[in-house]
Parts: sequence; structure tokens; C-alpha cells
Amino acid sequence: MLLRAESSTGCQRCQEKNTKIFSFCPRCRESLCTLCSPMTEDTIIPLQVCVQCELQATAHRSVVSSREHARTRRGLTATVQHMERSVLRPTTRAGIVRGVKDFENYAASMGELGLPADVLGACQYIAYSVTVRQPEVLDSSTVDNYVNGQRAWHDLVREVTGLPLQNPYRSPRVRRLLKHVKAHFKKDSKAKRPFTLAEAKRMYHGGFRTHTRSGRHHKVLFMFCNLGLLRPNASKQLRCSYRLRADGRVEFATNSQVRVVRPPYPAAPFIHVRVGGGHSSDKNATSAKPGDRFIPAVVHQLELKPVELFEAYLIIERPPSGGLLFAAPLGKTGFRLTTFSNHGEAFIKGYERSHPDATDSDTLGAGSARKAAAQWLWSGGWAKRVIADAGGWFCKKSAVDTYFKTDPERILDAIENVGQKTRLPQNRR
Ligand SMILES: [Zn+2]
Ligand SMILES: [Zn+2]
Repeated sequence: MLLRAESSTGCQRCQEKNTKIFSFCPRCRESLCTLCSPMTEDTIIPLQVCVQCELQATAHRSVVSSREHARTRRGLTATVQHMERSVLRPTTRAGIVRGVKDFENYAASMGELGLPADVLGACQYIAYSVTVRQPEVLDSSTVDNYVNGQRAWHDLVREVTGLPLQNPYRSPRVRRLLKHVKAHFKKDSKAKRPFTLAEAKRMYHGGFRTHTRSGRHHKVLFMFCNLGLLRPNASKQLRCSYRLRADGRVEFATNSQVRVVRPPYPAAPFIHVRVGGGHSSDKNATSAKPGDRFIPAVVHQLELKPVELFEAYLIIERPPSGGLLFAAPLGKTGFRLTTFSNHGEAFIKGYERSHPDATDSDTLGAGSARKAAAQWLWSGGWAKRVIADAGGWFCKKSAVDTYFKTDPERILDAIENVGQKTRLPQNRR
């Protein structure tokens, strides 16, 4: 069935040929185009009982035959199918597809057919992944992710085809093996550590060669990734629209993605840098509304004035308004047109310059700046939800969480006072 769907070249219902994606209806056994049975490229399996077949199976329900009813019923069924396709978050769907792809690559390398797998086949795949896999074995948590995808695939195929397909990943044998692998095949963590508050302070005050253009660039970039809790990939896409006024001050366009907000802006009791919307490469932020980021005007423990630092960068370096804020400086006044992506190297150099005796720079990376602020907030006793909202992490939400948001003021307050543990978050304001 899957092979039929994947090798289709034309729609068997309307003869449409102008699409690459076809679905296959397991009931009428027809390959259908995206108009006759909507499918998207990232659909997990190209199988879908068509609306016509779904309706036929329930035709006995109607006692009055009316065109109007039939049309409504067809529309409702299509709506149901559309909603069902949107049930999974895109990242979840992509995760399942990765797991399925990985099994297929493995099967091909063994000269076997891919999914569906049998119990021994699933066990062999797991054993292969943690022992003899080339170029390197997988960490048990990666195997677990892939296996979750393969398990979901079997459930889906079983449901849509109605075939009595056993899911090998639900068998006791596979579950036992997975448990063993999780306990004994955990690779050493490659995750990089965050900067401590003291380390960051030294970096801000001597880690960057601020008499050079690239030194100033690296310092402001570090500040945005650190205090704005931005992923390197998100920071490099940021755009800023502004102009320098005759009096030497910076004026930001109201729709600028990055801007300094000053009172009397209604939601801002104090001056801060706001990074808002559109940084879609922030992969864990909810797709509906990527969280804004808030950087306070002052961070006491770091003895840092972010707003001043940021505006000074614009005034001195003048990155093109509306363009990439963190494009790398080129020559005396120019900028590269490509996005900057040397975050790791820039931050580590900053660390080494301010810590000449340190020997642990290999434990640090591009993500260490963002992780640092999250760690500081956590150590300061802030609630997980506040930290997640400050950094745009996806936090599994209960219904109650949709009724309130973390105020920008609270995030600004938390970051302004990092490193101070004395105030309890639940009793503030
Ligand atoms: Zn068609
Ligand atoms: Zn059908």
C-alpha cells in the first residue's frame, strides 16, 4: 500500500498529475491527489481513508436523502480530517519522521525491507544502534527518540489501514531491551556548560577587544544571547530598524524587531531592550507566538548597562537599518551580507581572554551564554514557568496556564537582579 502511494504518478479520481504528493486510500485502493484527499509533504504516512469511503461506511445513518445534508456531511468529514492532520505539533511530526527514516536507512544497509518491523527486527535495530553503528554509536536517549517515532508509525498505520498489525515496540521483549539500553548505553554528555555569573562579569569587563570593531560586535552579541536568552540561530537573524537623530540619539522604528523601549510606552515601566516576534528559528518557542525577549537597562551583579551598550554599538558601528543587526563588521565601516555564525568561537575567545589560566574552554560553546542566564534565574529561585517565558522554552501547559502570562516587568526584574537570592519570587509585587 505504502509503495503504491509513494510511486503514484497521477490521481485515479480526477486524473490530476501536477502534484508530487499522493495519498492512498486503503478502502477503495485509489491513489489520490492533494485536491481529492489533502496531504502535506510532512505527513507521516501517505495513507488516508478518503472522504468518500468514510461517508460510504456511515451511509446507513441517513433516513432522509437530501443533497444539502450530503454536502454538509462531506464538508464536516473533510474538516475532521483536516483537524486530525494538525493534531501533532510540527516538531513532534518531524521527530516521528526522523525515527522512521533512521529505521529505513538501517534496513537498507542490512538488505531488508523497512517498516513494519517485527519484534526481533526492532531488537536488532536497537542493539545495532548502540554497539556497531557507523560512523559512531548512538546515545541511548537518541535511540529512545527514534524508537518512539517508529512506535508511533506502527500505531498510525494500524489505525488507518484497519489491518491487525502488531506493534513490535509495544512487546515486552523490545521494552525490556530498551530499559537495559537506557541504563547501560548512555554516552558521556557532550552538552556544554553555562557560564557562571562571575565568569560572565569578567567577560563583559575584559573578555572582548572593544577597541576593535569585531570586539564590540562580539560583546553586544554575547549580551543579547546571554541576557536575552537567545539561541545563536535566533540572534543571527535579528533585524533592527532605526535612525540616528541630529542630537546624536537613536530613534527606533516602532515595528523594529529589536528596539529600546522607553516610558511612556504603556507596558513598559522602565527602559529596556525588547526583542519581539519573528525569530522563528527559535525551535522550541510555540509557533503561535514566539515569546518576546526583554533585556533590562541595568544588570546590577554584572555591573552592566545593556541599553547603553546596545545604543553605543548602533551609534559607533551603524549596522544598516532594517538589515541584520549582527552581521559581522567588514573593513573600516562595512558589514558582511551573510549571517554571523561564529558565536561559539567568539564567546570562548572572550572567556579565554578574561580567564588566562582557564583550561576548560572545551566545556563551553555557543549555547553557554543563553544557558547561563537560565541557570542564574533558576539558582535565584525563580519558577520554571518564569524562566521558560523569559527564554522562549516550550513548557507543557495545563489549561490554567493559558489564563495568565509572565509580565515583561517580572522578566526584566528577574534579569536585572540575577545573582541575588534574598527576594522570594512568590511574594513580589
Ligand atoms: Zn484528484
Ligand atoms: Zn477511498
